[in-house]
Amino acid sequence: MKIPEYYIKKIVAPACENDERIISAFLKCPRNRFIDEAMQRLSFDDNALPIGYGQTISKPSTVAYMTYLLSVSEEDIVLEIGTGSGFQCGILASLAKFVYTVERIPQLSYRASLTLKKMHFKNIKFKVDNGHIGWEEFAPYDKIIATASSDEIPENLLIQLKIGGRLVIPIKDRIKIIDKLEDGIDIKDGENCRFVEFVK
Ligand code: SAH
Repeated sequence: MKIPEYYIKKIVAPACENDERIISAFLKCPRNRFIDEAMQRLSFDDNALPIGYGQTISKPSTVAYMTYLLSVSEEDIVLEIGTGSGFQCGILASLAKFVYTVERIPQLSYRASLTLKKMHFKNIKFKVDNGHIGWEEFAPYDKIIATASSDEIPENLLIQLKIGGRLVIPIKDRIKIIDKLEDGIDIKDGENCRFVEFVK
């Protein structure tokens, strides 16, 4: 299946301020590869779609926007909470040095790992766990992204972030951009968004 032009031009590019590295990551990770056979023709619309187990793959504009907010460099070590389909993870792995990703539903984690291995990604490590506690073993991280929403900023994620690092997370229905500074944190508001709830 070919990636349609409108997907990049009308959905991805406007959501990431035309960031060329992000656009090429979207071209490297065709969204249909993360979506069930029966829903292939909906792959390039700007909608969330079911991926089983009551979960969804996020809207591509949301993935582009959150990736943009995270401002991932080639040297970054990234932690993602909520692997889901693996789509956001593939985008991050195209941009970063290494991605650690945690998912609480084993079947989703396993399927995402197969999908991403088939696409020849070698810079991703998967874990089945409650991501609320982060992933201590490889901390601290340059960037952390959560793809499920929380009522408050999970303390462990802040602890596992480097000083100078950034956490992007939906809190209730608002995306927050949290920078960890020498002497505390700086919190900015992003756009409103709908996400599945983060399970504590
Ligand atoms: N990034 C995913 C979006 C998946 S939706 C994608 O691109 O497809 C959010 C995911 O977070 C779901 O798969 C859900 O099972 C997972 N999740 C929810 N609470 C979690 C928790 N506490 N720890 C780890 N994963 C969690």
